[in-house]
This record gives sequence, structure tokens and C-alpha cells, in this order.
Amino acid sequence: MPKIGILGCDSTTREMNCVMIGCLGNLRGRQGSFAPYAQEDPPELVGIIHCGGCPTAVGSDRIWQKVQALMDYGIEALHLTSCLVEICPFKKEFLQTIQKEYPDLKIVEGTHPFHDVRAFKSGIQELTSQRAVTPQKMNDLVFKRIKIHRPDDEE
Ligand code: SF4
Repeated sequence: MPKIGILGCDSTTREMNCVMIGCLGNLRGRQGSFAPYAQEDPPELVGIIHCGGCPTAVGSDRIWQKVQALMDYGIEALHLTSCLVEICPFKKEFLQTIQKEYPDLKIVEGTHPFHDVRAFKSGIQELTSQRAVTPQKMNDLVFKRIKIHRPDDEE
């Protein structure tokens, strides 16, 4: 069983209450980025860790500590959540640090596909700014009941 870990976005989990339903559902169903694992040798998820919050313009290197916590349990592959891949402005720096620090670690970008990436980003923008209705969380986006603020609505 290949041991794997997941690195997620702190903002979506801590501030938007994301329970990682898409990531874990795809893992259970062996879909998305988990589809390539062989049926007879399924992945073993040893743990999930989040980035620790946006690291400022100069601190992205600290991501090594988060990955080390999973490396301590012998992971062979690290899956970056699809949220992190699509919306994190530090993704490139995170990848550079992780690849340099752990050259033998397989890195997989994304955990699950999106039906509509633009709608996802629009929803995340709304969940962050909370302009239309407060409070809205990740489940409002997942269950497609999210209300989106449009500047034109005010006119
Ligand atoms: S640094 Fe990236 S992954 Fe971490 S909270 Fe910020 S946007 Fe999310």
C-alpha cells in the first residue's frame, strides 16, 4: 500500500469550514488524482495537514515543516488539494521548497476535478469577502446554494 499524505489550504478549511468532502470522496472512490493507484495496491492515507495560513511574501519556505510532519510517517506521495492548486498564490514557491527539500517525494497536483473552475473561484471569492450574505461557508458552495455578490446588484 503506497503511503500518501494530503497538503491542504488553511483558509478553505479554517475560515470556510471545508471538510474536504471532494478530496476524501475521490480518495474513497479512487477517482480524480487517486484513480491511477492500482486496484490491488490502494493508497493508504496516513494524514492530512494544512499550510499553516498565508505565509507573507517572504515566508513560503516554512512549508517544509508541514510536509516533514507527513514525511515522518513515511509517505511516498504528497497530494496537494485542488483548492490549493487553483487558488493559492504561493503554490509555485511551495512546490519549489518541497521538491528541493524532499527530492524523492512524488508530488501530485490536485485531488479532485472541478465541474466548473470559474464558478469555484467565484464562490471562493464570495466566501472570502462575504459581501452577498453573511455568513456563507464551503458547504454553501458545495450544495450550490451560495449567493454571489454582483456589484451591479447595488444599482
Ligand atoms: S498560503 Fe495558499 S494554501 Fe495556504 S491559506 Fe493561503 S491560499 Fe491557502
